[in-house]
Parts: sequence; structure tokens; C-alpha cells
Amino acid sequence: MATALALLKDVFGYPAFRGQQAEIVDHVIAGGDALVLMPTGGGKSLCYQIPALARQQAGHGTTIVVSPLIALMHDQVGALHEAGVQAAFLNSSLSMEEANAVERRLARGELTLLYAAPERVTTPRFLALLDAMHAQGKLSLFAIDEAHCVSQWGHDFRPEYRGLALLHGRYADVPRIALTATADGVTREDIVAHLQLGQARQFVSSFDRPNIRYTIAEKKDPTLQLLRFIEGEHAGEAGIVYCQSRKRVEEVAELLCREGLDALPYHAGLDAQVRQRHQDRFLRDDGVVMTATIAFGMGIDKPDVRFVAHLDLPKNIEGYYQETGRAGRDGLPSDAWMAYGLQDVVNQRRMIDESPAAEEFKQVQRGKLDALLALAEATDCRRVRLLAYFGERSQPCGNCDNCLNPPAVWDGTEAARMLLSTVYRVQQASGLHFGAGHIMDILRGKETEKVQQFGHQRLSTFGIGAEFSEAQLRGVLRQLIATGALAVDASSFNTLHLTAASRAVLKGEQPVRLRESIMQPAGRSRRRERAGARSAVPAAAASLTGDAQQRFAALKEWRTRMAREHNLPAYVIFHDATLAAIAALAPRSLGDLEGVSGIGAKKLETYGPGVLDVLQALG
Ligand code: ADP
Ligand code: ZN
Repeated sequence: MATALALLKDVFGYPAFRGQQAEIVDHVIAGGDALVLMPTGGGKSLCYQIPALARQQAGHGTTIVVSPLIALMHDQVGALHEAGVQAAFLNSSLSMEEANAVERRLARGELTLLYAAPERVTTPRFLALLDAMHAQGKLSLFAIDEAHCVSQWGHDFRPEYRGLALLHGRYADVPRIALTATADGVTREDIVAHLQLGQARQFVSSFDRPNIRYTIAEKKDPTLQLLRFIEGEHAGEAGIVYCQSRKRVEEVAELLCREGLDALPYHAGLDAQVRQRHQDRFLRDDGVVMTATIAFGMGIDKPDVRFVAHLDLPKNIEGYYQETGRAGRDGLPSDAWMAYGLQDVVNQRRMIDESPAAEEFKQVQRGKLDALLALAEATDCRRVRLLAYFGERSQPCGNCDNCLNPPAVWDGTEAARMLLSTVYRVQQASGLHFGAGHIMDILRGKETEKVQQFGHQRLSTFGIGAEFSEAQLRGVLRQLIATGALAVDASSFNTLHLTAASRAVLKGEQPVRLRESIMQPAGRSRRRERAGARSAVPAAAASLTGDAQQRFAALKEWRTRMAREHNLPAYVIFHDATLAAIAALAPRSLGDLEGVSGIGAKKLETYGPGVLDVLQALG
């Protein structure tokens, strides 16, 4: 029997296991149960694919992979075919005849892996098939992907997953591996309880994604900021832009297209066929920017998404981490970029307040929003805060905006006290509540019509904050609202109200520290000069010389042609990193190509000659 490492090299073309993969793989090959918690892009698939291969070679038969996502099954099976592995899937996208053909292959023991949807696995018909395989000792392993779907606390609860518990009862001697990228403790306990994995060994990886750079910018002219970010850092590269509303998605996609980007909209209001077409384009073509609501992204395992941008605030840190986690699965430098402003805070608070949910539930939502706002307002390392949220301690990362360009911080405590006492005084004087603009006018001593109408120029705080700019005061207001020291009443013209938390700030017990507001959005050239800024060279090719760059470009073109011919996403043929390694190596023979990371035996045979032709044509 080939060792796990030999299979990794020969079939997948990778020189070494990552992180805990080797341990997990050994444990499962030996027949142990496992629960694997690993971040997106950590390499979960190999944790069951290698055992599937090894165990089949040892005569144990087929591995059944339970997966909830049709698109993902399709791509995984496609990628396995390319690597020369016998795999198939069973789901609702197949016709009756196609499904029957797959079942026959399964019964004949021709498959190393079968992917199936959870509702399929527990049908009497499928269980009868499994029974027959089991009786012959040909049921090797169950891999349960996206195992958090079993938990009703998660956002992806799928009742069908609960039915999977019967697998253990029925086939107690068949090992099981459950995998998820959702980290929190409640979900983990749920998985163990509902899938009866009490005996399983747990493998918990760090949730850090060191190749992702986190940036949270102050929102000024968000679409312009977005455009500068994409053009400056990710021209021609694939990315996802998340917006809150369908309308906004459409607008932003249009604007990006007008600016010459290859952008497509995606949201639940679009026709299913249009959605599918846009998703396929995103997966298959190079450099498409998907502008989407959060309806997009589940089950997208495109490895070369170079950036995820948020034009609106996500709901909470879990959402933010899941969405941004779609960047850089291939481990190459990637960006998580967000524009954030006062209106976001107001909107999110309002959405929670106005939702019909029970007060207890709303309280939880508010707590989660507060944690996200604290991340957005932070002037220290974003990653330290993110990981701390998931229970991991870490050191400043050197790869987030705050680490790379420590923000100038000013003490806004005095300004905050002035703002709060003005809110207090206008209410006392007139019994009415006012909005942010009016409060700032009073503080800065502007005798507007409204000020005169209410006699607010006579308030003791009138003009005492003249030294502060409007931008500064807005920053203070945002932080006060973000931290709950000030509330906005959306049902009555966004008026400001004091809260129980206002007192500590008013008394000066609670310091307010703010990042210095940069009035000019950082332009393109300026951004490039800044410490740690990357150039617009594709991430994978960043370290290549001129000649190698040329080879890289030619290889990418060739890959696009191959992808079209084989009707596969480009990355299933070769990852960018593999193309970059080939470009650097400038191989002249198949022997030279052997051992390049990402080129297994089957791919060497299928694509090796084509690659050599491309390079030869360049001279
Ligand atoms: P996950 O399911 O955990 O999000 P995947 O299994 O899709 O992650 O793996 C992410 C990417 O990393 C894939 O493109 C995969 O080919 C690559 N990968 C996984 N393990 C290794 C390894 N040991 N060496 C090189 N690349 C790897
Ligand atoms: Zn950092």
C-alpha cells in the first residue's frame, strides 16, 4: 500500500502535508473517527480524499462523502477526475438514467469516492445500496462535510443532517470523519451530540488566515474608494464585492462595468438561470468581480479569489469572517477590505430594533453587532481582535491596516462629552430630540435658521466645540453610537438620544480614542508608496522576473483555453501558484516538470506536453 505522502505527491502533486493534515490522514486511514475544525482554505478535502485512496487500495472499498452543496460536489468531482481519481456524485442535478449509472458504478466497486447530498444518503433506496456494500466489506469511510449544518445554532442549519446519525447505528464499524470551518464551541458540541462523535478524535486548527490582509477604511465616497482599491491592488483579478441590498448590488456592478471591470451582479432577486450563469462565469473565467448580496458564496471553493470587499457592514463577526474567508484559499496574498461609516451603524442597529424577533434574540444580535463595531473602530491589530473573538490569543500580525500603517490616534473624550451634554441640553430646553447635524451645528457655534428658531444659541454649549472639524465630530458620534453611548431613533428622523451608557462618557470615566480622520481618500500612487502596499502584479507572479512574467501570462492564456475545452474552472487545471512555479522554472522536458507543486502523475501526462509547447513557442 502506498503511503499517504506518496499518494499526496503522486495523485495531487503536492510535496508536503499542511498543518494537521498528516496526523488527521493517518488517524483516519487507521480506521479512527475524527472531527476536523479547520478554517476555509485550510485543506479539509485532502483529509478524507487521501484516506479514501489509501483505504481503497487496502481493499476497504468506497468512501461516501456527504456534502450539501451541488456546485461544490460538481467542482470537487471534476478536480478529482483531473487528478485521475474515480469519483462521482449523486444529487438532484442528475437525470434518473445518470443517477442509475452512478449507482451501478458504485455497486460494482468502481468508485473511490461518491459525493451525495444528505437527503439522498438517508433514503431507503440508497441505504439498501450501502447495506449491500457493507455486507461485502466495501464501505470504507463516511466523510461528512460542512458538519456544522447539523447545528440549529449555526446559520446553515439543515434538518437533513440530523438524519445522518443513523449511519453510525447502522454501520458502526465504518469510520467517520466530520469536517467544518465553523469554530464556536456550541456548534462543536452539537456536531458531537447529533452525529454521535463522542469517541472521535478532535483536530482543531488555528483559525488564522495569515495570507489575508484586513483593512477597514472610513467610508467617504465608497464606490470611488472601492474602485481605487481594486484598480490599485487587484486589477484584472477575481474578487467579491458584498453589498446589503439588491438595488445597491445592481448599481455597483453597473458602475464597475462602466469603469471597464468585468463585474457581474448576483442576488436572490435575479432569475435562477442568470444567477447560475454569473456564478459559472465567476468560477470559470479569470478576473471576474462578483458584486453580490450574501446570497452568494456558500460552497464557492474557487481558490484564487484575490479580494473580498464589503461596501456595507456585515451582520456580525462570524459573517464577516466567513465572507472574507472566501479570499485566498490558495494561500497567496489576498485582501479583505471594508468601507465603514456612521450610516452603517445606524442601519444595522435599526434592522435589529425593527425586526420582529423576540427581545432575547435581539439582545444577542446587539451583542454581536457591538463586537463587530469594536473591530471596525479598533486602532490596534485587527487580526488579534478577530482571533480573540474565536477564542485564540495572538500577537500583532503585521498584515492588517492598523499594523502596517498605525493610525494617528486623537483623544476624543472632550469632544464626546460636549456632544453628549449638548444632546442633553437641547432636550431639556425644548423637550425635543434632534439629529446629528443640528447638534454639531450648536457645538461648532453655527447660527443656522434652526438654531435661531429654537433659541439654541443661548445654550451653554453653543460654540464651545468650534475647534473641532465636522469630520472629527462625526467620528466621535460614530464611535458613541457604535459603543451604545448614544442611540439613534430611526422612527423619528434619526434623532439622537442619551442611553444608560452615556453617563460614564459624560463623567469622563470612559475615554474615547479615535483614529485621525484622513480627509483625502488615499489615491493610487500614494497607496503604492505606503509601507507594505502591493503592486498590481498578480499575487502569484509577484516574485517573477520579466521573462518569467511573460511565461506566466502565456500559461494563463493556455489555461483559459484548456478550461473552455474541458468545461472546467481554470483552477481545476492548475492553480496560479503552479503556473507561477512553472514560469519560474522554465522547464524543457517532462522530467523538469515533475515535482512542481500541483502537478500529479495524471496532470503531468494530460497537460505536460501542452505546457512545454506553450513555453517552446515563446522561444
Ligand atoms: P477547505 O475545504 O478547507 O476550505 P480545500 O480542501 O478546498 O480547503 O483546500 C484549499 C486549497 O489548498 C485547495 O486548492 C487545495 O488544493 C490546497 N491544498 C490543500 N492541501 C494542500 C497541501 N498539502 N499542499 C498544497 N496545497 C494544498
Ligand atoms: Zn495586525
